[in-house]
Amino acid sequence: MNILVLNCGSSSVRFQLIATDAALIERDSDLCLARGHLERFGPESLVSFRAEGQPAIERTEAVADHRAAIEIILRWIKSLGDIHAVGHRVVHGGERFQQSVRIDEEVLAGIEACAELAPLHNPVNLRGIRAATELLGTDVPQVAVFDTAFHATMPDTSYLYALPLELYQKHHIRRYGFHGTSHRYVAERYQKLKGLSPDAVNIITLHLGNGCSACAIKNGKSFDTSMGFTPLEGLVMGTRCGDIDPSIIEHLVAHADMRPAEIDALLNFDSGLLGVSGLSNDMRTLLDADIEQHNPRARLAIDIFCQRVKKYLGGYIAEMGGADAVIFTGGIGENSPVIRARICKGLECLGLTLDSVRNFELPPNGGEISTPGSSLKCLVIPTNEELMIARDTFLVVENSRAR
Ligand code: ADP
Repeated sequence: MNILVLNCGSSSVRFQLIATDAALIERDSDLCLARGHLERFGPESLVSFRAEGQPAIERTEAVADHRAAIEIILRWIKSLGDIHAVGHRVVHGGERFQQSVRIDEEVLAGIEACAELAPLHNPVNLRGIRAATELLGTDVPQVAVFDTAFHATMPDTSYLYALPLELYQKHHIRRYGFHGTSHRYVAERYQKLKGLSPDAVNIITLHLGNGCSACAIKNGKSFDTSMGFTPLEGLVMGTRCGDIDPSIIEHLVAHADMRPAEIDALLNFDSGLLGVSGLSNDMRTLLDADIEQHNPRARLAIDIFCQRVKKYLGGYIAEMGGADAVIFTGGIGENSPVIRARICKGLECLGLTLDSVRNFELPPNGGEISTPGSSLKCLVIPTNEELMIARDTFLVVENSRAR
């Protein structure tokens, strides 16, 4: 089955065309037939297409909106084969969507209802779903795969904040967690690599990219995660602050003459690695500035970033009563041996000793980077959210046909 995976951002669409079925999933040999993105909608949008055996296309082109972007994608991939189903990344599923679902009118209304919780993301995801339905017709099934769904198994002690309980009951204020598709993919890869049954997976996954989150996975299920009511909570990120004392907001209103919306933008877009370093949100730039120019603010930003990860690791190991492995994934987690080494430094007290040679000489498909004697293992497993979305889409469509 050829699945078109769509990931709609505020002014971008990323896509992959993936061939998958039960046998391919079993053998881990699903095929990515094409991938690409259309970014910065406007008169000169950036367009990138890649397909196996064809020259890569990189060009600028006028792309008005999500519908126009999807129309261009469909025109381009028509020559590669039919599209049998579409899988959409949807950011927020609230408490209602605890797994991937086939999209119908009721599901659309449900995603719309969750937009209150993710006003920047869900409306954009809905735009992508509506455009794909209009362009492909209702005969091509569409499936929604939610970033929040994997965390639906968290116990109330993990998802409730210590606020008056009425705020949860009336206003749905709780930890939802995000990056669920990535944490789930990595956990499933680990399970397969180690030949374990799903409920024997006890690990901590660290998704470190522009956005960063940690997940405590106990008996194969999300037990706790660092992102909360929104993706702002938890680890230090490219431009997000992660954990701070909430009283800082009131202090800024009273003493820095800032309005809540300005503070929200400050915490989401001007903080994190960028805010501390004053230089960049990009870890590569900061590492270069630290190592080559001895830039003290770049070093400080990296040190705060790594210390926060350690804090969550230690906390999750205590919460879970021990874990078997720590997994690095995401752009930073997969590609930066220096950051992995800085995070793991001193974790011998938890049984984790990094093998410095393996850490630096890792093949692109990842692998184990702890010493053989390490009781807490450490691995790098590249994430693949698009593949997870394609597989879920296939399984949901197959199940709905079987009924
Ligand atoms: P997103 O969360 O937007 O998907 P990615 O997962 O691609 O982002 O991660 C982007 C981050 O990964 C950036 O901070 C980038 O600097 C970092 N990164 C990518 N490659 C390397 C590398 N070789 N060394 C250090 N950081 C890297």
